[in-house]
Amino acid sequence: MIKPASKQNKRMGSNRSMRNEEQGSKMDNDLHELFLDELADVYNAEQQLTKALPKMAKAAESDELREAIEQHLEETEEHVSRLEQVSKQLGESLKRKTCKAMKGLIEEGEEILKEQKDTAALDAALIAAAQKVEHYEIASYGTLVAWAEQMGHDEAVDLLEETLEEEKSADDKLTSVAESIANQKAQAE
Ligand code: ZN
Ligand code: FE
Ligand code: FE
Repeated sequence: MIKPASKQNKRMGSNRSMRNEEQGSKMDNDLHELFLDELADVYNAEQQLTKALPKMAKAAESDELREAIEQHLEETEEHVSRLEQVSKQLGESLKRKTCKAMKGLIEEGEEILKEQKDTAALDAALIAAAQKVEHYEIASYGTLVAWAEQMGHDEAVDLLEETLEEEKSADDKLTSVAESIANQKAQAE
C-alpha cells in the first residue's frame, strides 16, 4: 500500500529513502503494539497458571512430580513479576486480556484429570497437560524475545530470555519425571 506523503516528507522532499524510513517507523509502531498485546496475553496466561498449578500439584501421585510442579509454581510467580518489570521499563502498562489458549489448555487438563482419576495413568495425564502448557509458553516467550530484539528493547530481551530458559527447563524436568515414573512402574511389575 502506498501511503500519502506526510507533511514532513513534503518538507524534506519525498525521496525513496525517506519513504522507507517512514515505512520502517510504521512497522516499528505496529510491531510494538503487537508486542504489547502478546505481553498482555502471556501475562494473563501466567496468572491463570498460578491458580491451576497448585491444583495439579495436589492431584499428583508421585512426590517427584508434585515437587516439580511446586517448584515451577514458584518460578511462574516470578514470571508474572518479570512481565510487570518489562512493561515498567518500557513505560507502558499491561493491558487486560484473557489468554484463551491457556484457558483452553487448563480446561482440557482438568477434563483429562477427571477422566484419569483413580487410574494408574493419572500422573502421565498430568505431565501431558503440563507439557502442553510449557510448550505454549515457550512459543510465546520465543516470539517476544525475537520481537524485543528486533526493536532493540535490550532489557526486555534479558528478562524475557530468563523466563524462556526456565520454561524450557520445566519442560525438560517434566520429561525426566515422566521417564522416572515409567521406570518405577516397569520395575514394580
Ligand atoms: Zn511462565
Ligand atoms: Fe495466548
Ligand atoms: Fe511455565
